[in-house]
Amino acid sequence: MSTVPSINLNDGASIPQLGLGVYQIDPDETAGAVKAALDIGYRHIDTAQMYGNEAGVGQGIRDAGVDRADVFITSKLNNGFHEPDKARAAFDETLSKLGYDYVDLFLIHWPLPTKYDGDFVSTWKALEGFKADGRARSIGVSNFQVPHLERLAAETDTVPAVNQIEVHPYFVNADVRAYGASHDIVTEAWSPIAQGKVLDDQVVEGIAKATGKSPAQVVLRWHIQRGDVIFPKSVTPKRIQENFDIFDFELSPDDVDALTELDKGEDGRTGPNPDTFDMIPD
Ligand code: NAD
Repeated sequence: MSTVPSINLNDGASIPQLGLGVYQIDPDETAGAVKAALDIGYRHIDTAQMYGNEAGVGQGIRDAGVDRADVFITSKLNNGFHEPDKARAAFDETLSKLGYDYVDLFLIHWPLPTKYDGDFVSTWKALEGFKADGRARSIGVSNFQVPHLERLAAETDTVPAVNQIEVHPYFVNADVRAYGASHDIVTEAWSPIAQGKVLDDQVVEGIAKATGKSPAQVVLRWHIQRGDVIFPKSVTPKRIQENFDIFDFELSPDDVDALTELDKGEDGRTGPNPDTFDMIPD
């Protein structure tokens, strides 16, 4: 039995609040990491076309002997495929690489407002098609800023189920999170431990000492209590287990506030600003 809570999405589906992220996991190591996570009890994997390891995700699930229906799989459209025809072909490829006939959640990875004449709306309509034909149970976006979300609301019929954005104590991304909270869009917090950069912060270390938990567990617990969905990345079974063991303690409201106050604004980002990010891989 899983100890991981589920969060309801605006389309009636639900998502486990904790999963495994596989960004920067070597394709050859992915099946092993996914199997290790599933053996521990994880039931949610976050991948992307850009990560080049969707095949390993499917393989890891089959190696673990877990039913497909019991695992929540997310993938994301790569930046070169925003035109609807290309999006449709790329989505077919995602399913074929995973070896399954549906994903639980499919996202536009980046809005790319300076590319494609700023048109992410026709891309979103292509994703609406994947939802309509049942091959994506839910659809959402990633790295969308408030104006991008407002534009989808004005020009399309489907509210994204999630917005996957950078959030951690050094970059709390309050405005985008608040828009999600008020429009029934679940926030998924990427780089939840800022790729390790927050773990030696004195405030984090102090709370870790006081609670008897590790710095990573304290920061992951902060996200859980704020209601965001997270999927820390690791290939090390010991860390994958450590990141799962966050449901047996509680941070006080003061601890939650102290971690939120570590925000450095724009300087705290570990990744690019979505307003200007325009990388299209070869
Ligand atoms: P993360 O914050 O999960 O940190 C990962 C790093 O921390 C790795 O180097 C790992 O070895 C280390 N680590 C993991 N557990 C640890 C522990 N218990 N103690 C000490 N160190 C530990 O960073 P991330 O991988 O960038 O983000 C997580 C996931 O978010 C990704 O795998 C991906 O699925 C998603 N993501 C999405 C986007 C996007 O644009 N949508 C961007 C980045 C990441």
